[in-house]
Amino acid sequence: MDFPIVELMDREACTAWLTRHFHPNGLKCPHCQASLDQSILFRQTKRSGLDVRRCKACQGIYNLYSRTAFEGRRFTPEQTILFLREVVQGKPTAKLSRELSISRTTGLTVRHLLQANAEQEQATEPLSDLEVETDEMFQNAGEKRRLARRSAGSTSKKGQ
Ligand SMILES: [Zn+2]
Repeated sequence: MDFPIVELMDREACTAWLTRHFHPNGLKCPHCQASLDQSILFRQTKRSGLDVRRCKACQGIYNLYSRTAFEGRRFTPEQTILFLREVVQGKPTAKLSRELSISRTTGLTVRHLLQANAEQEQATEPLSDLEVETDEMFQNAGEKRRLARRSAGSTSKKGQ
């Protein structure tokens, strides 16, 4: 029996939790580092219901998932939190994908991204080890890969 836990979760509380963990210094423009105050609400994503912000300083757009392993995925905030929780607990991808109504391929892809981030930060600790500082596995996830991919053309945009 699958319990409808995703439906019972509070969207606002989930969004706040993810913002705290994904962006511990506050959500800001990933392109130019301008603060959230310097952006306007541009639209909402259809499937995941995320606010998409447009930066007034550089006209870039971003959302809660920008520069994380969840960028471009259609997870709702509720799904993202449960996904993280179950990955940390070591639940098999097939089972958690089914429970969260996401495709197994997506589940595997995101899990691998998280795993890669965790390994980058933490040498050889297995992801299922509850000692792992979970924040580290998704803070700025994908940033290094993105920089690597773009390094040929772009010159600026290095955060920090
Ligand atoms: Zn900007």
